[in-house]
Amino acid sequence: MPNEILVKTVLNKTKRRDPWFLDDYTINPYSACSFNCLYCYIRGSKYGEHMEERLAVKINALEILEKQLAARAKKNQYGYIVLSSATDPYLHVESKYGLTRKLLETIHRYKFPVHIITKSELVTRDFDLLEKIRKDAILPADLETTGIDKVFITFSFSTLDDQVGKIFEPGAPAPTKRLGTLKQALNNTFHSGVSLMPLLPYITDTEEQLLNMFRTLQQLGVRYIFPASITLFGVGPHDSKPLMLTAIKKHYPHLEEKYKKLFAYGTQTPSWYRNAFNAKVRRISEQYGIKNSLLEG
Ligand code: SF4
Repeated sequence: MPNEILVKTVLNKTKRRDPWFLDDYTINPYSACSFNCLYCYIRGSKYGEHMEERLAVKINALEILEKQLAARAKKNQYGYIVLSSATDPYLHVESKYGLTRKLLETIHRYKFPVHIITKSELVTRDFDLLEKIRKDAILPADLETTGIDKVFITFSFSTLDDQVGKIFEPGAPAPTKRLGTLKQALNNTFHSGVSLMPLLPYITDTEEQLLNMFRTLQQLGVRYIFPASITLFGVGPHDSKPLMLTAIKKHYPHLEEKYKKLFAYGTQTPSWYRNAFNAKVRRISEQYGIKNSLLEG
């Protein structure tokens, strides 16, 4: 079972709104994440280790959020709240604790818009509440005239293949199941799309794989896709870089040297890789007529 912890703050104001996620604020109901993706950017980064054993529920989050949102609403500081930036808001433990749902009820009461980012089918449980938020939320002042949606639901994938998912996202719901949930979100008319973060070099970032993913997602009717390349951190046993390199050695031995070269000089892939990657995903997005932004309809 997860630890239960007390926190001093739960609503975090971001320094600036990211153009992809529109994150004016973030909320992480849980600390760490039991989906255990090997590539998770939190493993070995400044956010610290990221292990299921350390999974913790912020048991006083509701009480703290109430105070924080009351203060923000009083000053008219409306903005998108992203759930979540450093965990998944619909982990398995959410079925027991219902913490994300309780937080969303408070968010609805204070009329803040939300952007849900998840890999889990449990989000369907809250469609009723998300619909209410969509109806009642107040947009941030600078977006008031844009007419954009007040709820976004983004499903995060590194692959659409269940076997590949099992290797790199061992605790997460299978990608095919995720696709089914995405379809349900779209059928319920939510403004939904996909974050392909990260695409795995030589495995899911190939032309063939990308065309297959974009075709599948276009057929489902996604409203947007955010494709991104990978960044790996750290040197410790639970950090993303060693975990990924070990998995590549075991499951894709023919790619081991290529990965070592890609990550020889730090956390980022070299600029030649990133430039080629960006050009490729831009071209394929245009080919399929798929937006890379929430602000473009
Ligand atoms: S679901 Fe997201 S937060 Fe959780 S381990 Fe995977 S990448 Fe990290």
